[in-house]
Amino acid sequence: MTSIDLRSAKRLVEAIRLEELSAVEVVEASLRRIEEVNKDINAFITVNAQQALAAAEKLDEKLKRGEIVGPLCGLPIAVKDVISTAGLETTCGSKILKGYIPPYDATVVARLKEAGAIIVGKTNTDEFAMGSTTEFSAFGPTRNPVDRSRVAGGSSGGSGAAVAAGMVPLALGSDTGGSVRCPAAFCGVVGLKPTYGSVSRYGLISYANSLEQIGPIAANVDDCALLYRCISGWDPMDSTSYRTQLKEEACVKDGAKIAVPREFFSGGVEDVVAKRVWLGVEALRERGYVAEEVSLRSLEYALPAYYIIAMAEASSNLARFDGIRYGLFLKSGYRDWNTYFSKCRAEGFGPEVKRRVMLGAYILSAGYYGAYYLKAQKIRSLLKTEFQQIFSRYDLIVGPTMPTTPFKIGEKVEDPLLMYLIDINTVPPNLTGHPAISVPVHREGELPVGLQLIAPYFCEERLFQAAKMVEECLRG
Ligand code: GLN
Repeated sequence: MTSIDLRSAKRLVEAIRLEELSAVEVVEASLRRIEEVNKDINAFITVNAQQALAAAEKLDEKLKRGEIVGPLCGLPIAVKDVISTAGLETTCGSKILKGYIPPYDATVVARLKEAGAIIVGKTNTDEFAMGSTTEFSAFGPTRNPVDRSRVAGGSSGGSGAAVAAGMVPLALGSDTGGSVRCPAAFCGVVGLKPTYGSVSRYGLISYANSLEQIGPIAANVDDCALLYRCISGWDPMDSTSYRTQLKEEACVKDGAKIAVPREFFSGGVEDVVAKRVWLGVEALRERGYVAEEVSLRSLEYALPAYYIIAMAEASSNLARFDGIRYGLFLKSGYRDWNTYFSKCRAEGFGPEVKRRVMLGAYILSAGYYGAYYLKAQKIRSLLKTEFQQIFSRYDLIVGPTMPTTPFKIGEKVEDPLLMYLIDINTVPPNLTGHPAISVPVHREGELPVGLQLIAPYFCEERLFQAAKMVEECLRG
């Protein structure tokens, strides 16, 4: 059997629609590829082979009957394991949820199914999405398909690696402070953090709910856009979701202006990263964009503000995991409930989650609330104002997604601060709510480098337009 290239969603959908390929053939190809490489890469926590094949068969029958099929018809898709899937184990990369089977689908998952996509499995993640390398997963680290001795990025490392290794054409991640864009940059694929409120969070197991969005990952910009259009839009089940239409008019004309904050290039940005990102900026200039250096002064405070807010929200969100309602359940023999809860949480949570829950509780405690949490919220406002000021003069903001190329597994895992620092450029759009995309700018054979573009609220189309130009110039 000739092998099926799983790296272009658009082409695969066409082939399935024209009945050149059946959905079963495509899903089988995806499962074969997973079988072949996942042992080593560890992108999947759960593979959903039987249900996926059954869904593909049903879809093929529909096609034969000439019924209308959705825009993702027959496409195998991987879903990060923090997103609820009815009847399919959802662990959040944690021992505390081992064995938990959600009774309902997240809105995004329901939309994927409606659009004809087929969920082939749940992908590896740092425990409760807390991390930047997928090394904090209770199920072992994900390896980077480009160089298996290196990290795949995180926390949606499994989704990034699954796409990069050609196991699936599309994947979903979640991005609280960079978790879609970081693995996209490290694995050499495209990832989008949508505008806060444009994709429903219903069924996403919360880490820090005021910051996070579910986002698409794909091998190219067109596929990333295709998936975004299917999952976005108002949802009555998520009160923070907006009633918006996609803004085609958000696309920019000749002479569009892009701001390049010099702070995005300072402090620990590797030379090779800066060089490749500037080549990306040059590519946009060649296409008629005007690029100017600007200053983003509050960037200096963004990282501490992010970690304070994220940890505060995490400590309150994770209080629901008590060893009774979901997943882990210990056998009897405990004197009282408090001892039981402590025991479950001590056994069920890993070290990074414990660190954050404790720091979060401290940050929110009566004596320190004003000094940390309130101050962080003020910085958040400051950053928003500064972004709005830049967007009153510029159409887009650009810089490196990550300050480094993917490093070796184990290199930073013992040093939490060093690990937090690599999020410096990805956290600002989460604090402000703006949409941001990472697009590869490295050369074939080199370690991946991602360029990040940030747009005004709900201007995702503008991101796709510019990212596509970068892709055409540097990857074509
Ligand atoms: N690395 C960041 C953190 O650990 C971002 C994680 C995420 O976006 N889920 O909080």
